[in-house]
Amino acid sequence: VTDSNDSNEQLKTDSVVPETESIGPLYDDSPESMNRRDLLRALAALGFASATGGIAWGLLEATMPQGVVQDWRKSVCRYCGTGCGILVGMNKEGVAEVRGDPEAHNAGKLCIKGSLLPLLNKAPGRLKFPMIRKDGKLVRASWKKAMSLVTSKFRRAIDLYGPNSVAYYGSGQLFTEETYTANKLFKAGIGTNNVDGNPRLCMASAAVGYTKTFGKDEPAGCYEDIDHAEVFFIIGANPAECHQPLFERIKDRKSVYPKTIIICVDPRRTLTAERSDLHLAPRPGSDLLLLWAMAHAIVEGKLFDEKFVRNHVAFQGAEGQVGWEGLRTFLDDYTPEKVQGRVGIPAAQIRDVASRFADSHATMSLWAMGLNQRVDGVALNTTMNALHLITGQINKKGATPMSLTGQANACGGVRDTGSLAHLLPHGRFVKNAEHRAEMEKLWRVPPGRIQPTPGLDAVHLFQAMGRGEVKCVLNMCSNPGQSLPNLDAYAQGMERSFFVVADAFEDTRSIRYADVVLPAALWIEKEGVFGQSERRYQLVEKLLEPPGEARADLDILVDLAERLGLGNVISAKTSAAVWNEYRKLSSHSKYNFSGMTRARLREHRGLQWPCPDEQHPGTARRYIPGDPFVPASKEHYFYGKPDGRAVVHLTPYESRAEGPDEEYPLILNTGRILEQWHTGTMTDRIAPIRNGTPRGHFEMHRYDAHQIGIEDGNEVEVKSRYGKLTGICRVTTNPLVGTLFAAFYDAEF
Ligand code: SF4
Repeated sequence: VTDSNDSNEQLKTDSVVPETESIGPLYDDSPESMNRRDLLRALAALGFASATGGIAWGLLEATMPQGVVQDWRKSVCRYCGTGCGILVGMNKEGVAEVRGDPEAHNAGKLCIKGSLLPLLNKAPGRLKFPMIRKDGKLVRASWKKAMSLVTSKFRRAIDLYGPNSVAYYGSGQLFTEETYTANKLFKAGIGTNNVDGNPRLCMASAAVGYTKTFGKDEPAGCYEDIDHAEVFFIIGANPAECHQPLFERIKDRKSVYPKTIIICVDPRRTLTAERSDLHLAPRPGSDLLLLWAMAHAIVEGKLFDEKFVRNHVAFQGAEGQVGWEGLRTFLDDYTPEKVQGRVGIPAAQIRDVASRFADSHATMSLWAMGLNQRVDGVALNTTMNALHLITGQINKKGATPMSLTGQANACGGVRDTGSLAHLLPHGRFVKNAEHRAEMEKLWRVPPGRIQPTPGLDAVHLFQAMGRGEVKCVLNMCSNPGQSLPNLDAYAQGMERSFFVVADAFEDTRSIRYADVVLPAALWIEKEGVFGQSERRYQLVEKLLEPPGEARADLDILVDLAERLGLGNVISAKTSAAVWNEYRKLSSHSKYNFSGMTRARLREHRGLQWPCPDEQHPGTARRYIPGDPFVPASKEHYFYGKPDGRAVVHLTPYESRAEGPDEEYPLILNTGRILEQWHTGTMTDRIAPIRNGTPRGHFEMHRYDAHQIGIEDGNEVEVKSRYGKLTGICRVTTNPLVGTLFAAFYDAEF
C-alpha cells in the first residue's frame, strides 16, 4: 500500500460507506462452487435492484480477502464504460472490500464484476518481469535489455523503412494520460499516424455518427436523463447484463413513473428484452430499414416537431443539402409495409413503436455494439440521431440519443484525445491542414511533422503487418489475438511483425505472438483519469504498488520516448504533468475542460466537460443554455456546425452483410454475459466468475436444433466462411430462429 498522500481525500468508514445489507448464507457450498444458474437465480429472487452492490457483495464476500478496512478511498471501476464510482476499502494486505460509491452517479450500485474487484489485483497469472522471446520461448529479461531491444528494433525500422513502418495499437482501457502520450509520441514524435486500437472495432461508429450529426463527438445528454425519460428505446444493447447499474436506474424510473415504457430491439431475447415492456426481434442486419420505417411513420403521422426541425435541423442527401421534401421523398422507399417482410416485424408494430417514440414527453435511446460494431454502423448512428432530431426528442431532460461504451476509457482516453488513425485531439482531423498546423504549434513540433494522411486503421494495420509493411508494433492493454475478427488471417500480422505486448496478465492470446512482453501495472496500481460514456472524467488514484517489476504504461511510453531521442516531445513525464498539459490544450477547443484540475477531480465524483474554468460545475447537457458555448439568447445551438444546425443524413439501406445461404444457413451473433468482461483476461481469472460461468458455448433456437438434429448439451462444430469453433450447444428459445449466439470471453473457445 502506498503511503497516503496528504492532498488525497481520505474517506472515513463511518462517514461515507453505505451499510452492507447482510443476507446471511444462501448456500451450504462455497461461492466457488455456485454455478451460474444458482447465482443468477439467487440474485433474481432477491430482487435485481438490490442484487447489485451490497447484496452481490453479501453473496460473494466469503471469497474476498478478509480483514478490517483501515481506509476507504474513492475510485472508479476498472471495467466498463458505465464508469461506476466505487469505494475501495484498504488495509495492510491490500484491497479488502469494494463497494458502490453512494455519492457517485451509480448511487452505490455495482454489477457483480465491480463487486468482485477486490480479487482482481491478486488474480493468478500477473506478469511481474519483462520477457524476450528466445528460440520460440519467452524468457525473463531486465527492463534495460527489453527496452533496448524494443528501441533498437523501432529505430532500425524507422531509419530503413520510414516512420510508417511502426505502429501503436491500444485500447479504451489505458488512462487518458497514457493514450494521449502514446498518440503524441507516434504522431508528433515519430511522425506516423499509425495509431489505432480496439475502439476502432467497437465505438468508432458512434464517434463518427455524433460528429457527422452535431459537428462534435460525444453525446449531448447524460445518465441523469434516465430519471426523466418516459420512453426508453434500447437497440443493439443489453444493459441489464452489460451496463447493469444503468438498467437498474431505468427500472427505478419505471417504478416511480409507471407510465414509462421500455422498448428493446434485439434479435435475441436477452435479459434486457425479458425485462422490457416491448421486445422487437428484427432480422439481423435489417435495423436500418426499421429505423427509416419508423421515420416514415413519424412523418406520415405528423408526429414530428415542425418548429424544432425548421429552426435547428438540416438535411443531407446523397447529392448535397435537401429540404423537408427531400426527406419525404427519401422515405418513400421505407414505408412500414414495404420493409416489414425484410425486417420481420409487422408494419402495425413499427407504427406503434414509432408513435410511442415520437409522442412521449421524453424519449431516450440507448445503444451499444449491436449498432456500432457493424459494417453500416455509422449510418445506424446518424439515423438514430435523426429520429431524435425530427421528433425534437433532444435537448430537454430525458430526451437524448446515447451510445453506451464498452470500455472504461474509450470516450475520454481514445475519442477525446484523438487517438485513432484519422484523428487529432479534441475533434480535430489529420486530413485538415489547419488542424494539423494548430496541433504542431500546440505540441511545439516543427511544421509538417504530422503527416497529412490518416494512418492505418485496426484492420488495415494487421493486414499491413501480415504483408511485412509494418515492421514493429507496440500493443498496449489490448488483446487483438482474441478479439480481432477473421483472426486466422490477422494472426499472420502478429506473427510476422516485431510485436511488443504490454499487459498485466500472462498468457493472453496476444502474448502467444509477442516478441517482447512488458509487465504493466493494473488499475489502482497507477494513477490516471478515466472518461466514461456521459463526458464525465473521474480520477483513479494509486493505492497499491504493482507486483514484481511491473510499471505503469505511462512510464513505459516515457522510457521509449527518451530512448528514441524524443524526450523533448514527451516533456510531461508523470501522470499529473501529462494531465496538466492535456487539460490546458483543451482550452483551444469546444471540448474545453481546462477547469478540471487534479485537485478538483480528487474532490468530486467526476466532472463533465465542457468545464472551461476552475469554478465551472461541468456541463450535464450540451447544446442548450448552461453549455458554456451556447449564447444565452439561444434556446438550442449545435455549435459544432457552421450554421448551428444539426444534420439528418439520408443514408439509404444497403444489403452489405453476407447473408445466410444453403452452405451456411445460420447467422452467428456474439456478445457479453453479466459476469464476464470482454476477452476475459481479467474476469476469467477471478475464481467465483470462472467457476460460475460456462466454458465457451452456443445458444441455438430449439426450432433450428430440431431441424438439424441437435439436443441440448451436444458438442457441436460451428463453421463459417472464415473459421470454425467447437463448443456445447444450449438449446433455448432466446435467439431468433436462424441465428446462433456465442459469448467471446473464453480464450480457449
Ligand atoms: Fe459498473 Fe461496469 Fe464496473 Fe459493472 S463493470 S460495476 S457496470 S463500471
